[in-house]
Amino acid sequence: MEILYRSTRSNASVSASQAILKGLSEDGGLFVPERIPQLDKTLEELGSMTYGEVAYEVMKLFLTDFTEEELKKCIANAYDSKFDTEVIAPMAEADGAYYLELFHGKTIAFKDMALSILPHLMITAAAKNKADKEIVILTATSGDTGKAALAGFADVPGTKIIVFYPKNGVSPIQEKQMVTQKGANTHVVGIHGNFDDAQTGVKKLFSDKELEKEMAAGGYQFSSANSINIGRLVPQIVYYVYAYVQLLAEGKLAKGEKINVTVPTGNFGNILAAFYAKNMGLPINKLICASNENKVLYDFFSTGEYDRNREFVLTSSPSMDILISSNLERLIYRIAGNDPEKTADLMKALGGDGKYEITPEMKAQLGDFYGNYAKEEEGFAKIRALYEDTGYVIDTHTAVAAAVYDKYKEATGDKDTVTVIASTASPFKFTRSVLQAIDPKYADASWGDFELVDELARIANVEIPAAIEEIRTAPVLHDTVCEKDGMKDVVKSFLGL
Ligand SMILES: *Cc1c(COP(=O)(O)O)cnc(C)c1O
Repeated sequence: MEILYRSTRSNASVSASQAILKGLSEDGGLFVPERIPQLDKTLEELGSMTYGEVAYEVMKLFLTDFTEEELKKCIANAYDSKFDTEVIAPMAEADGAYYLELFHGKTIAFKDMALSILPHLMITAAAKNKADKEIVILTATSGDTGKAALAGFADVPGTKIIVFYPKNGVSPIQEKQMVTQKGANTHVVGIHGNFDDAQTGVKKLFSDKELEKEMAAGGYQFSSANSINIGRLVPQIVYYVYAYVQLLAEGKLAKGEKINVTVPTGNFGNILAAFYAKNMGLPINKLICASNENKVLYDFFSTGEYDRNREFVLTSSPSMDILISSNLERLIYRIAGNDPEKTADLMKALGGDGKYEITPEMKAQLGDFYGNYAKEEEGFAKIRALYEDTGYVIDTHTAVAAAVYDKYKEATGDKDTVTVIASTASPFKFTRSVLQAIDPKYADASWGDFELVDELARIANVEIPAAIEEIRTAPVLHDTVCEKDGMKDVVKSFLGL
């Protein structure tokens, strides 16, 4: 049955391929499926399938205007030897939890899970809709999306990609990964500002009518690779289903047994995918939403008020340093009874005063979620304790999730439910912080970035990922830096407008 996508802010509705192509609705809203489809294979059947096969079974239910052939081709092009394991998303058991390792792709962070398929979905969608303009991907990144999007779109015909990142708000490895990106169609720009500035700037460019006209005249149209694109969200549902059916097939779960899912959260995309998985019929108990010191979501789940008016804290989990979690809008729309007017009003308040409050009726529908946060030292302590107890090393983002999971167990007494923790980045992406957490001696500035990489490989006894080896000696190819209000000029200059 066909599923259409509606804007969270109006009655506009489009096909799946159009939603992927547009990224964001013209009214500023996000596209949401008009209903959540139910899995049409049993969990046992899915348990005998490969990652790619599960991906097809999940994605076909959402992307209903893609043919079987088209979708299978996109999946085959995405989940191949770019990943360093055939399993694509393996799990590691440590200290009583299952770490779902979503970092085995090209850029060693979970964004690869969706961004290795998005370019294929997008060019397929463009061909289906007879789009005659070149697609310009405009992306704001807190560090990981940027590189994963660059790697996904590099040299994909009919596309260009421009990535904005906060010049002083990403890790040295993240920055090096981006500024060494190859591909004639790639552009990388540091901005003087934080991630929210970059994201707000990109949203403004998307809704700039004058720019849209100039772009059209030049043969270009914008699209988005940010997690607001439904083509990012749908592939992220897959690994929750895959993880569950693997555990079931291995006998770690009884039939129908529920699991908890803990997600280190920033833009609310990853955890929303888990929520969709639950709504598709996957047996999930709690969705544990873990924040770092930018704990706007924790406050929201506790009080029902979303308030971005606070100090922006730079942490060692930079991909979660976010005060406006864009994907939350999709949940708001849902708990508002799929009411676009109510949603638009709340989002207008967020754009204006920087805050909004949901009604008690809406708040009552958030029972699937548990929110908490971990301070910098709590995350560090978790990295150290896990390493000392088990030898397993997790990155700073995953550490926030693991620390919050401990708090959840403490607060609720739920210590027995099998729990999957989304492990969103390889520790090699954040070597300095990870090693510092394990031993303060690594805090010394005399340790070079790559010396730390070698040290981590030694103490954790794991191979250095290819993604890191590659950038060790790669030349810097991008050095543009601009002010927050200079983003439009930079885009026009790249496109020759
Ligand atoms: C993007 C990212 C997150 C946050 O994911 P959201 O979908 O934005 O909530 C967490 N950890 C890492 C390593 C990331 O790259």
